Amino acid sequence: MKIAIMGAMREEIDPILESVGTYQTLEHAGNVFYTCTYKNHELVIAYSKIGKVFSAITASVMLERFGAEVLLFSGVAGGISKELKIGDLIMASALCQHDVDIVAFGHPYGFIPEGTLMIESDANLRSLASEVAIDMGVDLYEGIIATGDQFVASGERKSWIQQTFNADALEMEGASVACVCQNFGIPFFVLRAISDTADGGASDDFDAFLKTSAAESAKFILEMVKRIGD
Ligand code: SAH
Repeated sequence: MKIAIMGAMREEIDPILESVGTYQTLEHAGNVFYTCTYKNHELVIAYSKIGKVFSAITASVMLERFGAEVLLFSGVAGGISKELKIGDLIMASALCQHDVDIVAFGHPYGFIPEGTLMIESDANLRSLASEVAIDMGVDLYEGIIATGDQFVASGERKSWIQQTFNADALEMEGASVACVCQNFGIPFFVLRAISDTADGGASDDFDAFLKTSAAESAKFILEMVKRIGD
């Protein structure tokens, strides 16, 4: 199967590239794409750069140009739910865009006409992830992930996002990637390891835990890749 694996930052895909052996490199549309064969799958791997626009470009290229049949996102996020501690893994059941605001016309926050407020991730990939979590002996949370073009480092903004979208974690790329996959009809999965708790100390925690949390997420994603199609 042709599988796309993407992150937003180099640190999020480096652990994957280090594990897959040799790969080819191709530059396209302002990005570098790495391709290889791994466990009988053809992989295309890339980091998009931060935010909704760059991640939408990268996801689109992976599907259109590289013909990916499934997309897995691996990265870090700010935790909202009190249950989530730094280093914990959360898979998105559904994703939304917390920074979309056309409420002046009577729409709810996060809603764009002809779109959907929430985009559900693929149920088969989620159940595969649950099996992988059991076998790896790790706790895997499932919940709503809210995306926006903001690094959230404020208790107030975090609570607003929790109350408005019932979100458990937040980041800057998941919902845009989900929107691309929804529109192309491609199954997708978003996994995040918590790097910070999106409040006053978020930027310091992020810097301290980016690498270790990104590595946790990447390790889990590679276990999933090994089992896709079994
Ligand atoms: N340190 C980087 C910026 C990181 S932005 C630089 O200076 O270039 C944060 C990245 O991690 C985004 O890709 C986002 O998806 C994720 N993320 C982790 N914690 C977050 C938070 N509290 N708010 C928003 N995004 C967060």
